[in-house]
Amino acid sequence: MATIINGKELSIKIRMQVKEKVQELQKKGIKPRLAVIMVGEDKASKIYVKNKSKACNEVGIEYEEFILNANIEMDELLELIRKLNERKDIHGILLQSPIPKHLDIYKAFQTIDYRKDVDGFHPINIGRLALNRKTFISCTPYGIIKMLEEYKIELQGANVVILGRSNIVGKPLAQSLLNKDATVTICHSKTKNLEEITKKADILISAIGKPKYVTENMVKQGAVVIDVGINRLETGEVVGDVDFEEVAKKASYITPVPGGVGPMTIAMLLHNVVIAAEYLK
Ligand code: NDP
Repeated sequence: MATIINGKELSIKIRMQVKEKVQELQKKGIKPRLAVIMVGEDKASKIYVKNKSKACNEVGIEYEEFILNANIEMDELLELIRKLNERKDIHGILLQSPIPKHLDIYKAFQTIDYRKDVDGFHPINIGRLALNRKTFISCTPYGIIKMLEEYKIELQGANVVILGRSNIVGKPLAQSLLNKDATVTICHSKTKNLEEITKKADILISAIGKPKYVTENMVKQGAVVIDVGINRLETGEVVGDVDFEEVAKKASYITPVPGGVGPMTIAMLLHNVVIAAEYLK
């Protein structure tokens, strides 16, 4: 039976470290502050934003929320971002995705001052990650790396297979793992013979958003399995991409959903806000 990677426990440890750093900064007269922009009334986003606000509160990061009407024009969104860029009391800016389809999210990300881009989505930060330079690493990939390191899972030379190539999870995760000397394969919806590929993984990471898609036959005996997926079933139950019960019998380590990658994502956001505050001082 696999060892469960306890993301919740580790996230609490990281939050404590962030809290101490916030107190140190406060002594120097710096009050780390995060601005969160939400456009429209997406139900899941509302929950995420509420969780972020609560987490900031707990570690002493000041939090300011901007909720914009779903039918705003692009110019209005950009104007708000530019105002927040200029404000010296704001260290981190986060634009909650998704935003309504008529708005250009890439243009919005690009307009955020890259030194305040705590989500790591600005092209400069993505480029710096690709060049293996100091940067903001997006929160979910960063959280996964932290978990693997905490559990002393060898990354150097490890054969890592990632399911999903999104700009927020799959791609930055692949880049981060490559920077840690792993051998990385990225799979997506057009990948052929998926099972053949996943079965060779020392570390298998799924970020596709399909409930219980990763079954026991896709996993090598003793593999480390990281489940990024968050899928809400009709019953209201939240499950990952991995068939946890069956895969846990074969894996050496596994993350649960909930309580795995999710809490780490928020912890790394808080961490990135502190980095931003130190960056801008
Ligand atoms: P996207 O929908 O943007 O990307 C999904 C990716 O999965 C795409 O690259 C897609 O391929 C690929 N994919 C879909 N079906 C298959 C398949 N059958 N085999 C292989 N690849 C497939 O999702 P996100 O990256 O935003 O999120 C993925 C999941 O992670 C979601 O459940 C989301 O809720 C969760 N999530 C969790 C976070 C956390 O903190 N725990 C944070 C962010 C996301 P293609 O590119 O070809 O379409």
